[in-house]
Amino acid sequence: MLHNDQLEQWDRENFFHPSTHLSDFARGDLPHRVVTGGEDCHISTRDGKQLLDAFAGLYCVNVGYGRPEIAEAIAEQARELAYYHAYVGHGTEASITLSKMILDRAPDHMSKVYFGLSGSDANETNIKLIWYYNNILGRPEKKKIISRWRGYHGSGLMTGSLTGLGLFHAKFDLPLAQVIHTEAPYYFRRTDLAQSEGAFVDHCVAELEALIDREGADTIAAFIGEPVLGTGGIVPPPPGYWAAIQAVLDKHDILLVADEVVTGFGRLGTMFGSDHYGMRPDLITIAKGLTSAYAPLSGSIVSDRMWKVLEQGTDENGPIGHGWTYSAHPIGAAAGVANLKLLDDLKLVENAGSVGAYLNSAMQDALGDHANVGEVRGTGMLCAVEFVADKADRRFFEASDKIGPQIAAKLLEQDDVIARAMPQGDILGFAPPFCLTTVEADRIVEATTRAVKAVL
Ligand code: PLP
Repeated sequence: MLHNDQLEQWDRENFFHPSTHLSDFARGDLPHRVVTGGEDCHISTRDGKQLLDAFAGLYCVNVGYGRPEIAEAIAEQARELAYYHAYVGHGTEASITLSKMILDRAPDHMSKVYFGLSGSDANETNIKLIWYYNNILGRPEKKKIISRWRGYHGSGLMTGSLTGLGLFHAKFDLPLAQVIHTEAPYYFRRTDLAQSEGAFVDHCVAELEALIDREGADTIAAFIGEPVLGTGGIVPPPPGYWAAIQAVLDKHDILLVADEVVTGFGRLGTMFGSDHYGMRPDLITIAKGLTSAYAPLSGSIVSDRMWKVLEQGTDENGPIGHGWTYSAHPIGAAAGVANLKLLDDLKLVENAGSVGAYLNSAMQDALGDHANVGEVRGTGMLCAVEFVADKADRRFFEASDKIGPQIAAKLLEQDDVIARAMPQGDILGFAPPFCLTTVEADRIVEATTRAVKAVL
């Protein structure tokens, strides 16, 4: 085994870490951490720590760490056939089975699944399919995509543009011109404190209608949204939001993309967030929970009405000019099949619903009344605590974006619990694996309470 000092030196000299303050890391102001193992909700690190991972990696290790069923499925697939492509009708038993398993679980009007590797590339695929669809329908001007401020849809050129967080645009010359943003259904941060949830939904709808009017419905192809805003702060929408948005989109013949990279396969206690909110998407983006991150795999689930037009397109133009070398990679597909079986066998979606509700209500009881907690919110196995300088006017702390990271660091230091300081605003996020127990939920809440006491 490499000596620790050697490993740290190589890490700081050679490794370009994503989403990291590069010079802080190079200087040693950010810790170097080597993760060596994991079991259920815990990971272990090279310095001998056992950490309770209350964010499931990046809300992706949904079935928990160290599942031998998935590891064995991956190993068996690698021994038999590590790779073959999926072009021109090729597949493996794993990829064909997985496509069936996904469609069996998806809303009834969905028709096919296109496989990719990451949430970002699946959303890139979605936008290309939407543009292709409108070109085949003879309306080449209907191309703009509406996304929401605070939405997160990836880090590519198009998907980074769809993302509505400044950090992902600044100095990258994003967003691209085809992307326009509208208001997020972030009730806590409404400007008019007296507004009811219903009135706030009306306001979001009016903003959307005004944007469509300004741009012209005949220039707008689609609206993309996460059922629950994730990276933008873990924000469930107010009741009635999705039904009202859906009505506007239907009226203007605008497609809906449900980005279910976080919510797909059970995080809200239902198989899809679209089920939970009664959305009728034309495309559903899936990634993380599809394999619980045991191997990279994503997908775009395509509706019947889009599929018919795509088929017509290939009749007119020949094979669809969109493919990745690693589409439907056999190892990812084998991981996906084993993962979805585990979700069923261990009733983990039900557990995400029930233990998630327990975690949310315990967090609310422990911190809801704290003078610097503006809101405890969540749904299913998603929970967030938003900090404010003043509870009455919801004022931000002066150095906003700083309290969340301090509390996350304290949580780790004092109690070996990992939570995530969300990238914009003072928000601490929790998204544990679905196998979380109520005892572990209590530990997360007690540790968070101690961390808040230590910092505020
Ligand atoms: N969409 C959503 C809702 C996400 O949360 C993420 C990642 O967190 C993505 C897309 C991008 O996925 P990836 O990081 O796999 O490219």
